[in-house]
Amino acid sequence: MVRLLSDIFIFGLVLLLIYLIKNNILSISVAVALFTYKTNIMTNFMDNISLLLDEVKNFNVSTDRVFAIIEKKEFVEEKFSHGHLKKVNGNFEFKNVSFAYDNYKVIDNMSFQINSGETVAFVGKSGAGKSTIFNLLGKIYDVNKGKILIEGVDINTLDEDSIRGNITIISQNPYIFNMSIKDNFRLVKENITEEEIIESLKLSCLYDFVKSLPEGLDTIIGEGGTNLSGGQRQRLAIARALVQETKIILFDEATSALDNETQRDIQTAIDNLKGKYTILIIAHRLSTIKNADRILLIENGQVQAEGKHQELLKKSSTYKKLYESEIVENK
Ligand code: ADP
Repeated sequence: MVRLLSDIFIFGLVLLLIYLIKNNILSISVAVALFTYKTNIMTNFMDNISLLLDEVKNFNVSTDRVFAIIEKKEFVEEKFSHGHLKKVNGNFEFKNVSFAYDNYKVIDNMSFQINSGETVAFVGKSGAGKSTIFNLLGKIYDVNKGKILIEGVDINTLDEDSIRGNITIISQNPYIFNMSIKDNFRLVKENITEEEIIESLKLSCLYDFVKSLPEGLDTIIGEGGTNLSGGQRQRLAIARALVQETKIILFDEATSALDNETQRDIQTAIDNLKGKYTILIIAHRLSTIKNADRILLIENGQVQAEGKHQELLKKSSTYKKLYESEIVENK
């Protein structure tokens, strides 16, 4: 279309110039000069039209994506109820819970109970459903059958604040905002003091690192600033959880290889939380398992065995195999 317009324009211009020369309005030399100059005009004109068409195309793609989000086509709609629990102690229970992603059953009549202040590790093969348990507890998905109870109350009867306000999920790669360290804390607690930040950074074994940065707590971290390693991100997320004081902390241990020191620091950070919080850990490493009060082995959508590390080694051949395969991997 742009080319056709350009040809029509040139043809029209030639006719106009001939007409002007014939009527002695323009001399031949001026007409030639004008015709030469038209090349510049046309190039700009065509470039601009092409740019405009490109922009229109991009605009269409972007609006489609934005509207898909606005109209909630991209995400499952979250449904909360109105019951409110202000502060919880950290007791909860899965009671005959079943759950499937579309038609793919992952949790099958699962039951277990967690007591306030316990540190419990979930182990099992990859794909066994450990992360799904976290997603159900955080009500990112709803159970198909059975109940999840927090302090004896069905989470389906609770409002968003009662669930999300009492549970922190620390994922394998927590999101860190592109702001200063201090502002990352202010997002979870508006009036936080510098002392509180330092205290929680010390407990999460990150203070020495922050202190070594030239701008300390004012260092910009995240996409545009100092990039933190996976282990540092998780420790910062632990520090934020400490500030929020949510009673239940779900911790998905990073699967990526961490060096021994980072691993030890994360372990110390979790140990510092022990007893004061109910901590659930998806454990990918033996060091975490050994310090847990209880280990639940997840297999075939159920809790196949539970107990302390030594107990499970004796009573579950699956656990023993998992343990031995990790020893081989770590050699
Ligand atoms: P684990 O944490 O034990 O590795 P997950 O809970 O992540 O296991 O996954 C359990 C099973 O559910 C896996 O087979 C996984 O592929 C499947 N799954 C996980 N998330 C989804 C999802 N959003 N949609 C469909 N299937 C999923």
